[in-house]
Amino acid sequence: MSQALDPVLQVALDVPLPRLFDYRGGAEIVPGSLVRVPFGKGVKTGVVVALATGSDQPADKLKAIEAVLAVPPLPADWLELCQFVSRYYQHPLGGVMSLALPPLLRQGKLPRRLKAKPTDGEPQAAPVQPDLLDEQAAAVAAITSPRDFAPFLLHGITGSGKTEVYLRAIATVLERGGQAMMLVPEIALTPQLEGRVAARFPQARIAIAHSGVADAGRTRGFLDAHAGHADIVLGTRLAVFMPLPRLRLIVIDEEHDGSFKQQEGLRYSARDVAVFRAKQRNVPIVLGSATPSLETFHHATSGRYRLLELTRRAVAEAPPTVRVVDTRREKLQDGMSAALLAAVSERLQRGEQSLIFLNRRGYAPVLACPACGWISGCRRCAANLVVHLADQRLRCHHCGLEAGIPRACPDCGNADIHPFGRGTQRLEAAIGERFPEARVLRIDRDSASTPAKWGALLDAIHDGSADILVGTQMLAKGHDFPKLTLVGVVGADAALFAADFRAPERLFAQLMQVGGRSGRAALAGEVLIQTEYPSHPLYQALIAHDYAAFAAAQLAEREQAGFPPYVFQALLRAEAKQLDDALAFLAAARESALALGGSVTLYDPVPMRLFRKMTLERAQLLVESASRPALQAFLASWVAGLYNRKAPRDLRWHVDVDPLEF
Ligand SMILES: [Zn+2]
Ligand SMILES: [Zn+2]
Repeated sequence: MSQALDPVLQVALDVPLPRLFDYRGGAEIVPGSLVRVPFGKGVKTGVVVALATGSDQPADKLKAIEAVLAVPPLPADWLELCQFVSRYYQHPLGGVMSLALPPLLRQGKLPRRLKAKPTDGEPQAAPVQPDLLDEQAAAVAAITSPRDFAPFLLHGITGSGKTEVYLRAIATVLERGGQAMMLVPEIALTPQLEGRVAARFPQARIAIAHSGVADAGRTRGFLDAHAGHADIVLGTRLAVFMPLPRLRLIVIDEEHDGSFKQQEGLRYSARDVAVFRAKQRNVPIVLGSATPSLETFHHATSGRYRLLELTRRAVAEAPPTVRVVDTRREKLQDGMSAALLAAVSERLQRGEQSLIFLNRRGYAPVLACPACGWISGCRRCAANLVVHLADQRLRCHHCGLEAGIPRACPDCGNADIHPFGRGTQRLEAAIGERFPEARVLRIDRDSASTPAKWGALLDAIHDGSADILVGTQMLAKGHDFPKLTLVGVVGADAALFAADFRAPERLFAQLMQVGGRSGRAALAGEVLIQTEYPSHPLYQALIAHDYAAFAAAQLAEREQAGFPPYVFQALLRAEAKQLDDALAFLAAARESALALGGSVTLYDPVPMRLFRKMTLERAQLLVESASRPALQAFLASWVAGLYNRKAPRDLRWHVDVDPLEF
């Protein structure tokens, strides 16, 4: 009798199907509860999304849940957030919730200590607050005056004190009894920021959320935030899913950074999800950057976002001088011009630091045989194996495949095979030979492969035990190097003419950031860019420190070419052992799309640029629309149909909405 009265629980489970699963459960269970349920031969953890009075399944087939987790039910706005992400990114709800939950809850476990550390009662010294420049003060006032949804773009040049603006705004929110969320792109940046936030808010409880935090710690942080105990949530993109009952402000630092977009599984943009969340919770959101993404800048200049500008450096007197070095008629020495070498040796004499920026790690991008044309290709990917001379390996940067460096050409036996091109290791070696007295330090993902190694490198830079740094974009982000006065940029031209329409935007951001590392203390900084295109508008905009001019020119080009932000895009990608299978699946999907109609443009299925990865052949189909709602409506019905489509067993497909990579 009572069984029939109990509601049917609709549970989201992490399985690759766009549906919920019905279970019987007790009358006390509410939506948002975490439950353990029998599924197939095992047990899964899921979230109760809704209660229903009946089920499509016959009552006697309906299984009962096994247990309810002793966690307060997740709030309605969290369920809504996940539902929005599921709809927008065309990803099953159970998969979204599984990603949004911290690791232990996902496995149906609880961390041992549920209560957070009590804050000690000792009154702490009031933290020192630096004085604000007028522009900073105006930005803080603007951000803290609205109490409802208001999106801001905080466009501030490097060193203009954006972080101070965030901290002041957060302070106001905490005083008003609210919670604040702050997202940053890189794990590498969080320890530095954690320290600064903790020092500024000694009484506040801070929950840290990024993949470097241990499972139990992340789970406790999540539960702390959920219970309203945590005042500040600080983390990388996955922190956007933390439940916050008193949320009053969201801050996204370096909003242009590509790492806010997850490139596998659920392909969501944490920045865009955060904007949705701010709207949903009716709170202000600040997107900060020195080089905003063109999407965000377009919103700010078209009036959708409010533009706040910080044009003055809070730290040093002047921004670095940027110059181009025309290399068209010069024979370079190990890839470096006479002007750059002279500038480096000047810094050496003055006891200052130089940085040579080359965004390509390894020794050389390929090993080749000049006799027969053999090159070191990856047998699993459509890519070359990169020469890593430091540990005598060839390595694929896409799949991780490794091999020893052959002594002779595997095809023709020629012993005279060469590395072609130049990566950071080769540049490091060349600089070491040219400046034998200098202490050279290489900073890339190989030399800074762990947080400890990265920390040691940063220490070496700070205490002055390095004279010349050779590094990739890892060095560009958020660190102050007070002795660094010269940045040399080599090998940047390739990005000017890349097939990816976002390449110039990324190059501009990288060069602005890396240039901003120099001259941050009392010493003036200089940036030298080696190029064969000295009059290129991108470099000219860098010389003039004119992001707005660069952005306006890029946006005009994008509008003319019909690229985002003037159109909205989605990709359907398929991968299979045979390229024909992937293309056939996409072709059939395209046929079904044409039958649906709708105001979208469907392109032809094509192999991806990296058309083979990990032995799988990959192809994609681009869908575009001038209207986001039209694209969304189309995707909803199209993708639902794809789940029922017959495909070869080894074929996998996914949808990438607002793709960043093609
Ligand atoms: Zn050969
Ligand atoms: Zn590979």
